[in-house]
Amino acid sequence: MNEAQGVQAFHQRELDAGRFLIQRCTACTKHVYFPRESCPHCGSAALEWTTPQGTGTVYAVTTVRRKPADGGDLNVSLVDLDEGVRLMSRVDDLAPGAVRIGQRVKTRVHLQDGRGLVLFDAIEGPAA
Ligand SMILES: [Zn+2]
Repeated sequence: MNEAQGVQAFHQRELDAGRFLIQRCTACTKHVYFPRESCPHCGSAALEWTTPQGTGTVYAVTTVRRKPADGGDLNVSLVDLDEGVRLMSRVDDLAPGAVRIGQRVKTRVHLQDGRGLVLFDAIEGPAA
C-alpha cells in the first residue's frame, strides 16, 4: 500500500465509523480535502486531521436524471465547507431541483452497507 492510499484508507475507515475528518496544514494553516500526503498550497507534509464544523454553502448543483426504478432523480452538489475546501455529494433532504446555489448545508455521515459517505442536509441561514 502506498502512502496516498494510506491517508485515503484512513479517511474511509473514519467515515465507516461515522466520523468525517479533513486535513489541516500546520505549516500554512489551510485546510485540505480530499485527503493527500502533502499540502497542495505550500507542499508541506505536515498535515493533521481535524473535524470540520460541517457547515458549508452550495457552490454548484446539477440534477442527475434516473429512472424511478433506479431511485429517481438526484442532485449532485459541489459544496464549499466553511473551512475552505470543496466537496461533492448530494443534499439529501431536498427534492432534486430544489437545491439552490448559495443554500447553506451541513454534512452528515451516512452509512450504506457498512460504508460511510458524506451527505448534506439543508440548514437555515443567509445565502453566501
Ligand atoms: Zn500548507
